[in-house]
Amino acid sequence: MGMVTYTIDNKLYINVTNKCTNSCIFCIRNTEKGLGSEYDLWLDHDPTADEILNSIKDPQKYDEIVFCGYGEPLIRLDTVIEVAKRLKEKTSVPLRVNTNGHASYIHKKNVPQLLHGLIDRISISLNASNKQKYNEICRPFYEDIYDHVIEFIKESKKYIREVWVSCVDTVIDEEEIDRCKEIARDLGVNFKLRAYEG
Ligand code: SF4
Repeated sequence: MGMVTYTIDNKLYINVTNKCTNSCIFCIRNTEKGLGSEYDLWLDHDPTADEILNSIKDPQKYDEIVFCGYGEPLIRLDTVIEVAKRLKEKTSVPLRVNTNGHASYIHKKNVPQLLHGLIDRISISLNASNKQKYNEICRPFYEDIYDHVIEFIKESKKYIREVWVSCVDTVIDEEEIDRCKEIARDLGVNFKLRAYEG
């Protein structure tokens, strides 16, 4: 079984699932490569809340604890909520989710509202300034999901203390980066240009 948790720069990352509702052209899941030989993040099953919590010996010692993948963590919304609740009982370390922003559409629930008080930071992959570009880059399972990602960002702004949207540097040009920055500014959230990791 691949690693359920791993550490980079004193941040603990939780590998919640390898499943995703996008198939981004830059996704590490499409490269067989991962983060280098040090990490094996290919899971043979999605870890339970107990398996995740048992792999975190001392949550207080990290700067941040991040729900992520190789995949989309909020596909497993109940597990993320349970682990976050149980971590909040033990630690004051900020909890973050890295997400594609599809979860409210998938679960037919207001997911940012459900994360209120549990998740301190959320980082949402924006990746494009419009639906057509998004569909080319992210190759989502749902054709109109871009509008739902924007909605997810707006709801996150209401319920989560720190909201970031991100784009990946090599797959879009300068003008497109500026347009994405403008979207972030209009929505009142932070913008981050991420390095290509494929
Ligand atoms: S959203 Fe993330 S995990 Fe999903 S395909 Fe894109 S890069 Fe990969």
